[in-house]
Amino acid sequence: MKRIMQYYNIMREKRLLYKVAFFLEIEMAKETKKQKEIWKNRFKKKVILVHKRNIEKVINKLLARIDRTKTNLYIRSAKYNVKCDITVNELRQLVLDAYGKKCKYCDKILTNKTFVIDHIIPISKGGTSTKDNLQIICKTSNSIKGSLIEEHYKILLDWLDTVPEELKKDISIRLARGIH
Ligand SMILES: [Zn+2]
Repeated sequence: MKRIMQYYNIMREKRLLYKVAFFLEIEMAKETKKQKEIWKNRFKKKVILVHKRNIEKVINKLLARIDRTKTNLYIRSAKYNVKCDITVNELRQLVLDAYGKKCKYCDKILTNKTFVIDHIIPISKGGTSTKDNLQIICKTSNSIKGSLIEEHYKILLDWLDTVPEELKKDISIRLARGIH
Protein backbone atom coordinates (compact mmCIF):
# COMPACT_ATOMS: atom_id res chain seq x y z
CA MET A 1 0.00 0.00 0.00
CA LYS A 2 2.83 2.36 0.98
CA ARG A 3 4.57 1.69 -2.33
CA ILE A 4 1.41 2.32 -4.26
CA MET A 5 1.01 5.64 -2.47
CA GLN A 6 4.62 6.57 -3.21
CA TYR A 7 4.10 5.72 -6.88
CA TYR A 8 0.88 7.69 -6.91
CA ASN A 9 2.60 10.74 -5.43
CA ILE A 10 5.46 10.60 -7.93
CA MET A 11 3.00 10.38 -10.82
CA ARG A 12 0.96 13.24 -9.39
CA GLU A 13 4.08 15.39 -9.16
CA LYS A 14 5.10 14.49 -12.69
CA ARG A 15 1.69 15.41 -14.05
CA LEU A 16 1.88 18.70 -12.19
CA LEU A 17 5.31 19.39 -13.64
CA TYR A 18 4.13 18.76 -17.19
CA LYS A 19 1.14 20.99 -16.64
CA VAL A 20 3.27 23.84 -15.29
CA ALA A 21 5.89 23.42 -18.02
CA PHE A 22 3.13 23.55 -20.62
CA PHE A 23 1.71 26.81 -19.27
CA LEU A 24 5.14 28.34 -18.91
CA GLU A 25 6.08 27.43 -22.45
CA ILE A 26 2.99 29.20 -23.71
CA GLU A 27 3.84 32.26 -21.65
CA MET A 28 7.49 32.30 -22.79
CA ALA A 29 6.55 31.70 -26.41
CA LYS A 30 4.24 34.69 -26.31
CA GLU A 31 7.11 36.97 -25.36
CA THR A 32 8.71 38.51 -28.41
CA LYS A 33 12.44 39.08 -28.79
CA LYS A 34 11.81 42.80 -28.53
CA GLN A 35 10.00 42.44 -25.18
CA LYS A 36 12.84 40.34 -23.81
CA GLU A 37 15.36 42.96 -24.97
CA ILE A 38 13.42 45.62 -23.05
CA TRP A 39 13.78 43.56 -19.85
CA LYS A 40 17.46 42.92 -20.55
CA ASN A 41 18.04 46.67 -20.84
CA ARG A 42 16.18 47.35 -17.60
CA PHE A 43 18.36 44.79 -15.82
CA LYS A 44 21.49 46.15 -17.42
CA LYS A 45 20.95 49.54 -15.73
CA LYS A 46 20.96 47.83 -12.32
CA VAL A 47 23.54 45.13 -13.00
CA ILE A 48 26.26 47.56 -14.17
CA LEU A 49 26.06 49.33 -10.82
CA VAL A 50 27.04 46.12 -8.99
CA HIS A 51 29.04 44.02 -11.45
CA LYS A 52 32.17 45.05 -13.29
CA ARG A 53 32.33 42.36 -15.95
CA ASN A 54 30.30 39.62 -17.69
CA ILE A 55 27.28 41.92 -17.65
CA GLU A 56 25.46 40.03 -20.41
CA LYS A 57 26.13 36.70 -18.74
CA VAL A 58 24.81 37.94 -15.39
CA ILE A 59 21.63 39.27 -17.02
CA ASN A 60 20.98 36.00 -18.89
CA LYS A 61 21.57 34.01 -15.71
CA LEU A 62 19.18 36.25 -13.81
CA LEU A 63 16.40 35.96 -16.37
CA ALA A 64 16.81 32.18 -16.57
CA ARG A 65 16.74 31.92 -12.79
CA ILE A 66 13.54 33.97 -12.61
CA ASP A 67 11.91 31.63 -15.17
CA ARG A 68 12.92 28.60 -13.09
CA THR A 69 11.70 30.28 -9.91
CA LYS A 70 8.30 30.75 -11.44
CA THR A 71 8.06 27.04 -12.28
CA ASN A 72 9.12 26.12 -8.75
CA LEU A 73 6.62 28.53 -7.22
CA TYR A 74 3.79 26.98 -9.23
CA ILE A 75 4.77 23.47 -8.20
CA ARG A 76 5.25 24.31 -4.50
CA SER A 77 1.99 26.27 -4.39
CA ALA A 78 0.08 23.39 -5.97
CA LYS A 79 1.56 21.02 -3.36
CA TYR A 80 0.42 23.25 -0.51
CA ASN A 81 -2.81 24.06 -2.28
CA VAL A 82 -2.29 27.82 -2.13
CA LYS A 83 -3.01 30.43 -4.78
CA CYS A 84 -0.25 31.19 -7.27
CA ASP A 85 -0.83 33.85 -9.88
CA ILE A 86 2.52 35.62 -10.01
CA THR A 87 3.61 36.30 -13.58
CA VAL A 88 7.16 36.20 -14.93
CA ASN A 89 7.07 39.96 -15.47
CA GLU A 90 5.93 40.60 -11.88
CA LEU A 91 8.78 38.43 -10.62
CA ARG A 92 11.24 40.27 -12.85
CA GLN A 93 9.98 43.59 -11.52
CA LEU A 94 10.40 42.42 -7.90
CA VAL A 95 14.00 41.37 -8.57
CA LEU A 96 14.72 44.52 -10.57
CA ASP A 97 13.44 46.80 -7.78
CA ALA A 98 15.58 45.09 -5.14
CA TYR A 99 18.74 44.47 -7.18
CA GLY A 100 21.83 46.15 -5.72
CA LYS A 101 19.88 47.37 -2.69
CA LYS A 102 20.29 46.20 0.90
CA CYS A 103 18.40 43.20 2.33
CA LYS A 104 15.61 44.56 4.55
CA TYR A 105 16.65 42.33 7.45
CA CYS A 106 20.45 42.46 7.46
CA ASP A 107 21.87 45.13 5.10
CA LYS A 108 23.53 42.61 2.79
CA ILE A 109 23.64 43.82 -0.84
CA LEU A 110 21.20 41.86 -2.99
CA THR A 111 22.83 40.42 -6.12
CA ASN A 112 22.36 37.25 -8.16
CA LYS A 113 24.67 35.52 -5.68
CA THR A 114 22.86 36.64 -2.54
CA PHE A 115 19.16 37.11 -3.24
CA VAL A 116 16.25 34.70 -2.89
CA ILE A 117 12.52 35.14 -3.33
CA ASP A 118 10.78 34.79 0.01
CA HIS A 119 7.14 34.33 0.98
CA ILE A 120 6.28 37.01 3.58
CA ILE A 121 3.68 34.65 5.03
CA PRO A 122 5.31 31.23 4.51
CA ILE A 123 3.72 28.93 1.97
CA SER A 124 3.56 26.21 4.66
CA LYS A 125 1.35 28.54 6.70
CA GLY A 126 -1.04 29.24 3.87
CA GLY A 127 0.83 32.20 2.33
CA THR A 128 0.07 32.64 -1.36
CA SER A 129 2.47 33.01 -4.27
CA THR A 130 1.08 36.36 -5.23
CA LYS A 131 2.82 39.68 -5.79
CA ASP A 132 1.90 41.08 -2.37
CA ASN A 133 3.23 38.07 -0.47
CA LEU A 134 6.61 37.81 -2.17
CA GLN A 135 9.75 39.77 -1.37
CA ILE A 136 13.41 39.72 -2.28
CA ILE A 137 15.75 39.15 0.67
CA CYS A 138 19.19 37.60 1.15
CA LYS A 139 19.83 33.85 1.39
CA THR A 140 21.10 34.04 4.97
CA SER A 141 18.08 35.93 6.27
CA ASN A 142 15.84 33.53 4.38
CA SER A 143 17.45 30.49 6.02
CA ILE A 144 17.19 32.04 9.48
CA LYS A 145 13.60 33.14 8.89
CA GLY A 146 12.65 29.63 7.78
CA SER A 147 8.93 29.17 8.16
CA LEU A 148 8.50 31.94 10.72
CA ILE A 149 5.94 34.60 10.03
CA GLU A 150 7.45 38.07 9.64
CA GLU A 151 6.17 39.30 13.01
CA HIS A 152 7.90 36.45 14.86
CA TYR A 153 11.05 36.78 12.79
CA LYS A 154 11.27 40.46 13.75
CA ILE A 155 10.92 39.54 17.44
CA LEU A 156 13.77 37.08 16.98
CA LEU A 157 15.93 39.72 15.22
CA ASP A 158 15.23 42.28 17.96
CA TRP A 159 16.22 39.75 20.58
CA LEU A 160 19.39 38.80 18.67
CA ASP A 161 20.37 42.48 18.75
CA THR A 162 20.40 42.39 22.53
CA VAL A 163 22.90 39.52 22.91
CA PRO A 164 26.71 39.81 22.57
CA GLU A 165 27.95 39.86 18.95
CA GLU A 166 29.72 36.51 19.22
CA LEU A 167 26.62 34.78 20.57
CA LYS A 168 24.49 36.45 17.89
CA LYS A 169 26.76 35.06 15.18
CA ASP A 170 26.74 31.59 16.69
CA ILE A 171 22.96 31.45 17.08
CA SER A 172 22.42 32.85 13.58
CA ILE A 173 24.60 30.11 12.06
CA ARG A 174 22.75 27.43 14.01
CA LEU A 175 19.37 28.82 13.01
CA ALA A 176 20.38 29.01 9.36
CA ARG A 177 21.40 25.35 9.47
CA GLY A 178 18.38 24.18 11.43
CA ILE A 179 15.06 22.64 10.53
CA HIS A 180 12.55 24.99 9.02
ZN1 LIG B 1 19.51 39.52 4.87
